[in-house]
Amino acid sequence: MGGRQSGQSGRGPTGAAARGGASRASGQAGGPSPRAARAWSLAGRGIASVCDRRAGPCPRTHALSVRPCSRLAAHLSAPVQSPTPIPCHSAQNTLNDRELLRLADQCVKCGLCLPHCPTFRLQHNEADSPRGRVALIQGLITGQLSDNARLGTHLDGCLECRACEVACPSLVQFGALMDAARAARVAKLPWWRRWWRRLRLDLLSGTRLLALLGLLAGAYRRFGLAALVHRAGLLRWPRLRVLHGLALRLRRPVPPRALRMATAAADADPDAGPPPVALFRGCVARALEPDVAQSALRVLHRLGIQVQVPDGQGCCGAMHRHNGFPERADGLLARNRAAFGDAAVIGGASACVAELRPALAASELCRAVLERPWPAGLELASLHGTVAVHEPCSHRNQLRDTAAVYELLRRIPGLRVVALPGNESCCGAAGTYLLDQPQTALALAADKVAALSRLAPRWLVTTNTGCAAHLAAAARDAGLELEVLHPVVLLARSLGCE
Ligand code: SF4
Ligand code: SF4
Repeated sequence: MGGRQSGQSGRGPTGAAARGGASRASGQAGGPSPRAARAWSLAGRGIASVCDRRAGPCPRTHALSVRPCSRLAAHLSAPVQSPTPIPCHSAQNTLNDRELLRLADQCVKCGLCLPHCPTFRLQHNEADSPRGRVALIQGLITGQLSDNARLGTHLDGCLECRACEVACPSLVQFGALMDAARAARVAKLPWWRRWWRRLRLDLLSGTRLLALLGLLAGAYRRFGLAALVHRAGLLRWPRLRVLHGLALRLRRPVPPRALRMATAAADADPDAGPPPVALFRGCVARALEPDVAQSALRVLHRLGIQVQVPDGQGCCGAMHRHNGFPERADGLLARNRAAFGDAAVIGGASACVAELRPALAASELCRAVLERPWPAGLELASLHGTVAVHEPCSHRNQLRDTAAVYELLRRIPGLRVVALPGNESCCGAAGTYLLDQPQTALALAADKVAALSRLAPRWLVTTNTGCAAHLAAAARDAGLELEVLHPVVLLARSLGCE
């Protein structure tokens, strides 16, 4: 173990930051609570194991190897009001300051989440880590820190990938905390800035604008503008590069009439035994992956499942919720609830399913297809080649069921199914993050491209729309020849019904 780590890890759970965390977990009544004691025991063991596994200096800058700044350190060691956790989940994030603080105070500052945080691994800065961000939120609410541009950079730099949430021994609900903190910050903005932010999100998730963007993107490709932008070297600017990548993938959404025809065919099956399901189409997915809904309908039809595509459905609200507009997100959720009624909802995009699940008990498409009984004699054609599986954070850290994707793909004869190395780290798409923080998004995608270059698969599958667009663009820029698609599209191909 390197001297730097050994010296600092010696602070471990007994260091200054640790003492601050312990005092939070135990409250002001004296000894640590059982939860805090357990967290410290895990923290001690975890930090030791992170360091002891490595013969030389630790390649990851882990929890205790970066000193917090003096203001942050002061906050880390400040006493807290209450150790009592409050119930919270992702669909309940309009919290007042006291509730927000109580949620943040569940963090005992052990730092076990730090090696799992993609932005911390990139920036090597405590303020860009989960522990640092929790402390910033605490400082903001208690008035010890002001909401300036610098603090905003660190909080807005969070991908909300929730890798820290999965790693946290204290069960800090980081996603809910960050959603609520963003909502609290947005609520304090001048009205015109709030209005502009919300308008942007409404436009991005509006199906009419997406249809228009699909048309414009088609023109951009067909009339040589894309090639011109490439030749002029304009893609060296991260924002343009990201927009260019999206324009190459945007298509006109499939009209509801075409989907209804497939639905009618499924409904016409007189022997359909299993209960009917309703397909959620999403918003951006209609333009970025129009083939997913069509393939899903055909596959479900082939399995003899009645499927509807209810009118009146729209955006799931995840973009609004993660960008500080929980009321608008709740409104979108209510609209979908009215459109779907009591139907069993199935969605192809994992981020949308994660958002819809608490209110609509939505199922992820791969799992839903696996769970239904497959008719005897169903024939799947062989597909020869390697398929790499990318696990979106929403599928891995929120739905926590990526096994369904592997299980489904292994039913296709001839396929070699492998996990994309580095799946534990976000690809950088992260909803609107790709548009807002293109530099970080591209840096994170570069790791995925390096893994893909080594693996050289024929296909890359992912269950999330934004990840598919981002990774397809990154792979194309790197000159990799592979197809990026949803697992169910590959299944439809094997069933001959793509
Ligand atoms: S979020 Fe969890 S893992 Fe990270 S420092 Fe806090 S208690 Fe430790
Ligand atoms: S949600 Fe992801 S990016 Fe944000 S602090 Fe946690 S691990 Fe880091």
